[in-house]
Amino acid sequence: MIYKDFKGKKLFLLGMGTMRFPTVGDEVDMEKTAALIDRAIRGGINYFDTAWAYHGGRSEQVMGELLSRYPRESFYLASKFPGYDQANFSRIEEIFETQLKKCRVDHFDFYLFHNVNESNLDLYLEPTLFRYLLEQKKRGRIRHLGFSVHGNNETTRRFLEAYGHELEFGQIQLNYLDWTYQQAKEKLELLAEFGLPVWVMEPVRGGKLATLNPADEAALKALRPEESIPSWAFRFLQSLPQVSMILSGMSDLAQLEENLQTFAAEKPLTAAEFEAVIAIGKGMIDRVPCTDCRYCMEYCPQGLPIPRLLKIYREQSFSGVGTIQPRAVHGIEEGKRPDACLGCGACEGVCPQNIKISGIMADFRRRLG
Ligand code: SF4
Ligand code: SF4
Repeated sequence: MIYKDFKGKKLFLLGMGTMRFPTVGDEVDMEKTAALIDRAIRGGINYFDTAWAYHGGRSEQVMGELLSRYPRESFYLASKFPGYDQANFSRIEEIFETQLKKCRVDHFDFYLFHNVNESNLDLYLEPTLFRYLLEQKKRGRIRHLGFSVHGNNETTRRFLEAYGHELEFGQIQLNYLDWTYQQAKEKLELLAEFGLPVWVMEPVRGGKLATLNPADEAALKALRPEESIPSWAFRFLQSLPQVSMILSGMSDLAQLEENLQTFAAEKPLTAAEFEAVIAIGKGMIDRVPCTDCRYCMEYCPQGLPIPRLLKIYREQSFSGVGTIQPRAVHGIEEGKRPDACLGCGACEGVCPQNIKISGIMADFRRRLG
């Protein structure tokens, strides 16, 4: 079992993300989710990461209901201020109080500025929210203050220069694909410059690193025959001493069991293995790095199932065929297909991966003929 010390707290290195719980229709499947949480706690996981927007606003409530069955001191709970939406800055106190109520706690062990990026940096730099959160910390309602960032490294630096002296950890998207693609290596170094430990999100890149192409899988199997493909993504992170928390949005028991096994013992990569996964990541870089976070969907006036459409587009693009057969979107109801896109760009302002969604929809439409 791999634990990291953080200011007197013993954190199991694998934490549980709460944006991909099992569902029935649009609702969280409470029975299956309760079983997941129970197994996670029995397996040693003691960090749960929720947020205002996850599961359409239901995640905090679900966590409140399920974690209230366990002693408060047996888990650490993290949530975040939803500063990716400008309207929320006029509701700071209301949102924070609601979050505590939804989660059925009187304090958050960890609390973050959520998704710092180019479009909200100026809002975050206006100090009202920062002062409010410091006040909550003084009152013991926030134990540790940090931030999650999807912005570029210049944005991250500006945020850290303003608030780094009060922040205690930084949550970044880090995996062997983004090491190069999203300059995660430089981001890691930036956090080190400010003396901050690293919390990792998207360690398996929304599942993209759970299966590789046959040649890449064979190359990894030749190096460590006993290791599963997803575990390489975790072993890569175990090789970075600055990483103190790895969040995985596990959505079924099999995945949880496999991850618990991976974190039963620390097996960092050798220098040669490290280079091998970085090379695989470089080979995978494509133009549609959607992680299925679904932030965009709330903002689409047409209600398009954007991540689903992007997935189809990406798969069709990989095949190298110039046109896309109409049957590719057959399962999607009319009015929700690429031809319904207005090109308004509302989705792009909130996309943490900076995907040029409107351009892709236009190309998708063109290639559908
Ligand atoms: S650009 Fe298209 S997909 Fe994006 S929000 Fe506008 S209508 Fe929806
Ligand atoms: S397009 Fe962007 S915002 Fe939408 S699901 Fe994909 S990564 Fe998330």
